[in-house]
Amino acid sequence: MNIIDRTRESMGWNNPFQTRRTDQIRKIVIHHSATAGGNMAAFENAWRNKGWRNGGYHEIILLSGDVELCYVPTTVTNGAFGHNTNAYHICVVGNFRTNGAQPSVVQIRSLMTRVRHNMKRFSVPVSKVKGHKELNPTICPGMKMADFRNTLHQSQGVVNSDLTVRLTGSQGQTVLGVNFRRGAGTNHARIRTLAKGTMFETLGRSGLWTRVCIGNDEGWISTRFTRRAAGRILNQGEGQTTARVNFRIGAGTNHARIRTLPQGQMLQVLGRDGDWQRVRIGDRTGFVHQRYTRFNL
Ligand SMILES: [Zn+2]
Repeated sequence: MNIIDRTRESMGWNNPFQTRRTDQIRKIVIHHSATAGGNMAAFENAWRNKGWRNGGYHEIILLSGDVELCYVPTTVTNGAFGHNTNAYHICVVGNFRTNGAQPSVVQIRSLMTRVRHNMKRFSVPVSKVKGHKELNPTICPGMKMADFRNTLHQSQGVVNSDLTVRLTGSQGQTVLGVNFRRGAGTNHARIRTLAKGTMFETLGRSGLWTRVCIGNDEGWISTRFTRRAAGRILNQGEGQTTARVNFRIGAGTNHARIRTLPQGQMLQVLGRDGDWQRVRIGDRTGFVHQRYTRFNL
């Protein structure tokens, strides 16, 4: 999830219609864009045509799962008539229905991350995370808001594209090279071939096939070639030691040891040199043997 700061590019950003203090923010309001695609620049045309000075949303979750920050929280935006003064508005790009199209897994993941972040930032309780439709007569954002709020209660919870709760911790890893397919069967098109050791997030099961998410892609792999991995989901570029392991200045046991890392140490993965992984821990870079680490590259 990349965060793109457009708070100094948005329509009327330096000439807000109304401002507030951040301690006046009492609720987070979720929207959909009711469009197949688009971004802030595209939506601004519609906002301008309505004669608005400022846009509708503080943040937009794009189809890619990346986030555009459109307005600083002290600017009041035009998201929900009669509720804007104390609302922080987040929009998910797409046209969703309660029993139909839903945000993608990457969008949901970004949305949950941003909602949690803003709940903490503005001290907004779960009960005050609202769908636009709970405030005004609209179907926006087309999500089951009670399910959404239930998911926010789960500490490690993420939601699948039906917005039903599933818990993470069900991370897996391929044990051989395996085809990643669009559907649950060898008759379905191959997205690509996954290398042995590829980490994935498990989304569901169908017969002998497991539905998984890898980066931005959802697809299926044969369950036979997978194993469950313990521990929390690693973000892309993150690693973690699986045992006590030496952190060295070079790629080999002949290189000096910086220190010994405990099991479970989080790492930032920088590159590979043979069986050694170049990593960063804090502001120190060095090498650890890949046998004692797990990664999401
Ligand atoms: Zn809305």
